[in-house]
Amino acid sequence: MLKGHAFALSEQIMSQRQELQLVREQAVALRDVNSQVAQDLEVAHSEVDLANLRLREAIETMPDGFAVFDPKQSLVMANQAFLGVFDGFPEVAQGIRYTRILEICAYEGLVRLQGESPANWVDAMLARWTQDHIKPVELHFESGMSVRLMDRRAPNGDYVSLVRNITESLRYQAELIEAQERAEAAAQAKSAFLANMSHEIRTPMNGVVGMADLLSETELDSEQRMFTDTIRSSGQALVTIINDILDFSKMDAGRMELHPEPFDLEKTIHEVMTLLAPSARAKGIELILDYDMFLTRHLIADPGRLRQVLTNLVGNAVKFTDSGYVLVRAVGVGVSEGGHLVHLTVEDTGIGIAPENQEHIFGEFQQVEEATNRRFEGTGLGLAITRRILDMMGGKMWLESELGVGSCFGVSLALPGATQPDAAQPPNWPTEIGKVLLVSDHLISRGIVERQLQSAHVKIATATQAEAAAKLARQVAPDLVLLDYELSEADPLVILQRLRAVLPDCPVIVQSAAIQDTDHALARDGRVAVLPKPLLWRDLCAAVCRLLGTHAQAPSPPDLPAKPVATLPDRTLHVLYAEDNATNRLVFSKMIRDLPIELSLAVNGREAVEKVNTATFDLIFMDISMPEMDGREATRRIRALPGGASIPIIALTAHALQEEIDKIMDAGMNATLTKPLRKAALMEAIGTYAPADPAPQHKDA
Ligand code: ADP
Repeated sequence: MLKGHAFALSEQIMSQRQELQLVREQAVALRDVNSQVAQDLEVAHSEVDLANLRLREAIETMPDGFAVFDPKQSLVMANQAFLGVFDGFPEVAQGIRYTRILEICAYEGLVRLQGESPANWVDAMLARWTQDHIKPVELHFESGMSVRLMDRRAPNGDYVSLVRNITESLRYQAELIEAQERAEAAAQAKSAFLANMSHEIRTPMNGVVGMADLLSETELDSEQRMFTDTIRSSGQALVTIINDILDFSKMDAGRMELHPEPFDLEKTIHEVMTLLAPSARAKGIELILDYDMFLTRHLIADPGRLRQVLTNLVGNAVKFTDSGYVLVRAVGVGVSEGGHLVHLTVEDTGIGIAPENQEHIFGEFQQVEEATNRRFEGTGLGLAITRRILDMMGGKMWLESELGVGSCFGVSLALPGATQPDAAQPPNWPTEIGKVLLVSDHLISRGIVERQLQSAHVKIATATQAEAAAKLARQVAPDLVLLDYELSEADPLVILQRLRAVLPDCPVIVQSAAIQDTDHALARDGRVAVLPKPLLWRDLCAAVCRLLGTHAQAPSPPDLPAKPVATLPDRTLHVLYAEDNATNRLVFSKMIRDLPIELSLAVNGREAVEKVNTATFDLIFMDISMPEMDGREATRRIRALPGGASIPIIALTAHALQEEIDKIMDAGMNATLTKPLRKAALMEAIGTYAPADPAPQHKDA
């Protein structure tokens, strides 16, 4: 029994020992695990510390202020850039409430409150934080620093505040604005200077051009005439240069406006070419116009500006060509939303432009030639202005040129039609004329006439010399002869003589660039009509009809409103001219000396008003810039006098800017003439504005 008990006890001891061993083993294992955990924890702690350190360093490196507030708006952390603003306020540290920071800003005078009371400002700043998306706000500190405050609420309810220092960028911005204002003021001053200079130059030019105009009307020998013409054309050239520069500065300031109106494109091109014809003729260059017979003439654009474009291009073509021709083509290439698509090309056989210069000549003051070895006059502004005008018109410009061969400047524009879109029919060619003998050795202009005649189903025979012409005349028995007066190898008068022997009664149309000279020589032949070059198809049709004794059959589309025809009334006109400049008074009085005009002069506006008070005038010409009382004020006062409202008053001004002219017209003028005054313009104004009947109660002293 005892043995059994002892056995059981030992069994128990044994098992307890085993258990103890097990527990011991487990304890050892647990200790190992524990120390692993502790180790891991330590690593984790140090990693967290490192991350924290990095974050702090990163935040400290930022030039911007950075702060985090907990959901109760207590400061959790902030970098030095943030805290530095509150130097001298040690309470601004971890744990401070946002409200308190705002109070320090407002009540301690740190931030400029822009007229707000401190309490209101703090309230407004606190209210900001209640918004869903907190809008950035700019704060300006008394220290001169400006910041942009950007706040955001984090998903855990924290507030994150980023304070960006914008002092430098604001200063930079202010500098830029100031620089821009200075530049604008300088541009303004430049425009004003140019406008003034233009005015000052035009005033004496009035004397030069006006007197040269008058002188050329007197008896002169050929040398004197050459001198006078040179003065006149140089004066005109100077005025053109001033206009160019003025135009350019106006465009530069974005103040140029277009005034679209109905106009006749063919006539406009023809007028430009006619104006340039004398220079072309002097150089022996053929001026040719090829106007598409199927392109309507009646279009809408600013005719003055389009004329300027054409004058620049055709003028350049003539200037840079010594022999050959200048051909202007107008072709309709379709119809678009913007109207008729028109291609205008100006082709010459001149000096050409090297590829490397082709782009830069469109720049301002750019010319191919160096200023030092310049053969050609010019400012280098023409093409720059041309391109800008075309830009404003929505058009395009291109250039093809080969050095030593010639140039072709092209322009494409969409221009609305001025009348009902009609299928533009070529003018009717008289049906009696079925066969034409064409005598011309200008290949291109002959080709154009041939094409036009073919479209009228006319049979054509061509000759370049007297012999051949006479022979063809016999063989073909033409109904009409078209004879070019400027033949290179034959005398047109000899040809005409030979033709008359065969065709005594045949109508002959002579085309000539020098119409005054030709007219004379051919005047004796009643069956000859002379037409100027470049030849217009409708003029040709009309002339043939005239020679045949039938009326011109050209179906002229409804004509555009014409200018009033200037006619002078059949009586003595009483005209007052107010002008302070003695030369201008002299030019004016000489220009009108052949007219039935009794002229009174006033030297300033005050004197003009006095004269109108004591005498009655049919017409008043009023200079604008005058001492004592200027033309505008004088006009206003005259308009207020009894009977003064109805007297036509025409302003004379050396101002060329439209806005100046508008101001002048606002003073109550009927019209404005610009200086230098041209006699033709003055005559037209007198004819247009002089009343047919005398003004009532003429009180002539
Ligand atoms: P400008 O004629 O007053 O010099 P533009 O701007 O009209 O000024 O022309 C600039 C330059 O382009 C001219 O000086 C000339 O060198 C060149 N140029 C223009 N048109 C032609 C042309 N048809 N043929 C040759 N060169 C030309």
